[in-house]
Amino acid sequence: MSILKNKLFRILAIAFAILILAWVWVFIEEKQEFLEIDFYDVGQGDAIFIETPKGKQILVDGGPDLTILEKLGRELPFWDRYIDLVILTHPEHDHIGGLIEVIKRYKVGGILTTGVVRDTAEYRKWQRIIEQENIPIYIAQAGKVIDLGSNIKLVILHPFENLSGQEIKKANNTSIVAQLVYGDFEVLLTGDIEKKVEKALVNSANPPAGGLESDILKIPHHGSKTSSTKNFIQAVNPIIAIIQAGKDNPYGHPHQSVLDTLSDITTFITGRDGDVEILSDGVRFQVR
Ligand SMILES: [Zn+2]
Repeated sequence: MSILKNKLFRILAIAFAILILAWVWVFIEEKQEFLEIDFYDVGQGDAIFIETPKGKQILVDGGPDLTILEKLGRELPFWDRYIDLVILTHPEHDHIGGLIEVIKRYKVGGILTTGVVRDTAEYRKWQRIIEQENIPIYIAQAGKVIDLGSNIKLVILHPFENLSGQEIKKANNTSIVAQLVYGDFEVLLTGDIEKKVEKALVNSANPPAGGLESDILKIPHHGSKTSSTKNFIQAVNPIIAIIQAGKDNPYGHPHQSVLDTLSDITTFITGRDGDVEILSDGVRFQVR
């Protein structure tokens, strides 16, 4: 009798476990129906996390410090220690600082960078970890297209040339600019580019398929007055603008003149509004 009871109990336990697994599976499937883009509030710096409907994960910049680890810890389930692609737009502290910790603690499928080098302790640490972990490096240059599956691609618009190995102290204008395209939905990521590169992009001899026009624009250089010319904002013509700038940062980002330029566009500031999450099915999008 007790053997029979035992068996019954085991069968029930297994059935219950299968049911739980099925629920988890449905939950994961449902969550990944959309392309997700998170603009994190990481203080004064940029950090953008992208997850495709098939679960490909991309991190663009990592902010200045360990805050990004908290954000990823909340975003990813505890068993997920793998990020498909890490993108460093340019090697400045407010972009690379947190990324160093990410590539140390997570397994990373590859790094997309301009290859611009810096003679700083921080940059050497970055390089040391890449060598130790043997992470593949891909050099970003305009014209390259990265296929993320699920009909999603990342179109590289800048830098126009291969900058690999060059030491450039003021690296803002070397930033990777990339357009994330999912059907009719586009997001333009701009790093810290300034007016000079904005102008060059507007006048580009090889514009992307739909021009610069994008639903979502990550405002360049934390809303600094060095960037966001009227011409550039008009060319992108975004529905939503996102400024990644820390609360009470010492640089006065975002500048009032930029906010004036954006006065007709719904604008979020991470330091004021917190994390901004955007979901899209390739036609419509939703902000959370
Ligand atoms: Zn920056």
